Amino acid sequence: MTADIIDGKAFAAKVRGQVGEHVAKLKAEHGITPGLAVVLVGEDPASQVYVRSKGKMTVEVGMTSVERKLPADTSEEALLAVVNELNQAPEIHGILVQLPLPEHIDAELVINAIDPAKDVDGFHISNVGLLGTGQKSMVPCTPLGCLMMLRDYHGSLSGMDAVVLGRSNIVGKPMAQLLLGDSCTVTIAHSRTKNLPEVVRRADIVVAAVGRPCMVPGDWIKPGATVIDVGINRVEKPEGGTRLVGDVDFDSCAEVAGAITPVPGGVGPMTIACLLANTLTACCRANGLPEPEGLTA
Ligand code: NDP
Repeated sequence: MTADIIDGKAFAAKVRGQVGEHVAKLKAEHGITPGLAVVLVGEDPASQVYVRSKGKMTVEVGMTSVERKLPADTSEEALLAVVNELNQAPEIHGILVQLPLPEHIDAELVINAIDPAKDVDGFHISNVGLLGTGQKSMVPCTPLGCLMMLRDYHGSLSGMDAVVLGRSNIVGKPMAQLLLGDSCTVTIAHSRTKNLPEVVRRADIVVAAVGRPCMVPGDWIKPGATVIDVGINRVEKPEGGTRLVGDVDFDSCAEVAGAITPVPGGVGPMTIACLLANTLTACCRANGLPEPEGLTA
């Protein structure tokens, strides 16, 4: 079997297009422009790249993009003051504090200082609790992107066996909650899981988020299963230089799976598309307007 390739790049472009249409309607019919503020502390090169591309895509869908760049020695108190100012700003509907933060700042404290209604990363403890109890929340962008791709490919996920590899707060746990919300039978596997290959082999849906290059080989995959690869790992090429690979061994898994996301070009592009979708959702909720269909969990 050779798997269908789930093209995250194309799907993300479609989602951004839908967000753009909604934004145009909001402006025309209500005179409202959604606004996203991204706060970056320090000079981490990878974070700078992410923030730049978030800003560019925010503007492309017609939203207002605000970037607050602060020096690496910014105090926790000063950062909290910026968050508070953005919480109060009516033209800002989404706030994202780029992680990681410098070590002298308590990231949890800062995330939990964001107004939960503007917490477009979905990391605030209130949103974590709302998601865990199946209530309306802001959902973390990467798992939301995975869910959208799965729903797009399968339609209903009800009754499917899903295995989530990884139990982090930003990917594994919210992913499992979302799959449960869509009535999958969910197993969360991690570094202490026994008989991991057997556990993975039971799954109709495998979501791999472990941060280990090519860890999942094809013989762990049930024939016809759908494989969502969240991993982004930079590895050396034999001929020199580096390349990005996921957490699954793409070639051997694609031989067995029914469908698979590539790396790059799978989950990655969906993350920013879902950040924009969450900002739109937050803006609609703040203004008492109906939420955009198909862009939320
Ligand atoms: P974390 O390091 O926070 O979590 C990794 C999880 O994998 C942990 O729960 C860990 O288990 C588990 N794990 C590690 N090694 C093994 C193993 N040998 N067998 C089974 N489980 C294992 O990572 P994140 O969740 O933050 O990220 C995971 C991957 O996703 C990374 O490659 C990251 O770069 C990528 N990522 C991609 C995004 C995107 O936009 N596409 C966004 C966010 C992340 P334990 O808890 O027991 O230690």
